[in-house]
Amino acid sequence: MNIKTEKRAPAELKARPNENELGFGKIFTDHMLVMAYDAARGWHEPEVRPYAPFSLDPAAMVLHYGQAIFEGLKAYRGQDDGIYLFRPLANLERMNRSAARMCMPQLSVETAFAGLQALLRVDADWVPRADGASLYIRPTMVATEAGLGVRPAKEYLFFIIMSPVGAYYPEGFNPVKIFVTDTYVRAVAGGVGEAKTAGNYAASIMAAVEAQKQGFTQVLWLDARERRYVEEVGTMNIFFVFRDRIITPPLSGSILPGITRDSVLHLLADWGLPVEERQIAIDEVLAASENGELLEVFGTGTAAVISPVGSLHYRGQDCLINQGKTGELAQRLFAELTAIQHGRAADPYGWVIRL
Ligand SMILES: *Cc1c(COP(=O)(O)O)cnc(C)c1O
Repeated sequence: MNIKTEKRAPAELKARPNENELGFGKIFTDHMLVMAYDAARGWHEPEVRPYAPFSLDPAAMVLHYGQAIFEGLKAYRGQDDGIYLFRPLANLERMNRSAARMCMPQLSVETAFAGLQALLRVDADWVPRADGASLYIRPTMVATEAGLGVRPAKEYLFFIIMSPVGAYYPEGFNPVKIFVTDTYVRAVAGGVGEAKTAGNYAASIMAAVEAQKQGFTQVLWLDARERRYVEEVGTMNIFFVFRDRIITPPLSGSILPGITRDSVLHLLADWGLPVEERQIAIDEVLAASENGELLEVFGTGTAAVISPVGSLHYRGQDCLINQGKTGELAQRLFAELTAIQHGRAADPYGWVIRL
């Protein structure tokens, strides 16, 4: 498919932000990719055009019934000044799985990727050069058909916006304090927990707000049926490092199949470390911490890559992990993954695509 490009006039280009004060998701680049779908034409007319608000009918079905899915991936600036994407096709393939679950149309991964590359070429200079900074990429699909009545919409918009983001750990790792909730649940097997769909995040906000009021950074979810088995954290999968093995919850249908999680599983296998993907009860975690068997806990996700957990708060008790400090394995995984992502380390898996 031919990708039309309408560039912003040079005089209208945005002022470039200070790369050392980017934060996360607050600034957007000059352009976006947009592609529409209707039943008659399918996906058509992908276009790179100036970043600008959309005009949507107030009856647009996404506003009422929530057919909305998204992805999150990053472009990195290499030492050779090249632009590197980390497993972008895995994100687009996951988007298609989210689309299938939400009765939304499948994308051609090839066309969507060509669109992303075209957008990145136009906004290439937005990929930050500051240490640890990157360009966060947000592909999104929403139902735009105007109409009330719950059913799959017949019209959609796919778009990609991009945001330069700062180093997640500008002053070195800062282990997070996590609140384990047994009041709220995120998802249930048979539901939409494994789809990256907007409603999952709307449903999670209340628990996050309550946890933050009490001084915690994130919420750890337990399974919805027994409220006993660990699922995942807000936007991260979770790993427990025991003395003799590493445990992470299985992809049971209610957790998001993270690409960072999958990448970590590959690295751990290659390093010869024994990993189990199995259910793990919160009681097992706390008991292991008590008797010294639990060495580290960390989360995995695109935004932070690896996020060491310093403590878990469950039913009024604080459980300190590794004395609140970053563990060795979290450190090693972070170093290896970020080196691969920036094209600094060998990439035997073929994860990195240079623009
Ligand atoms: C996106 C996300 C993750 C992490 O996925 P990555 O592909 O590693 O970024 C984990 N859990 C939830 C709920 C998410 O939305």
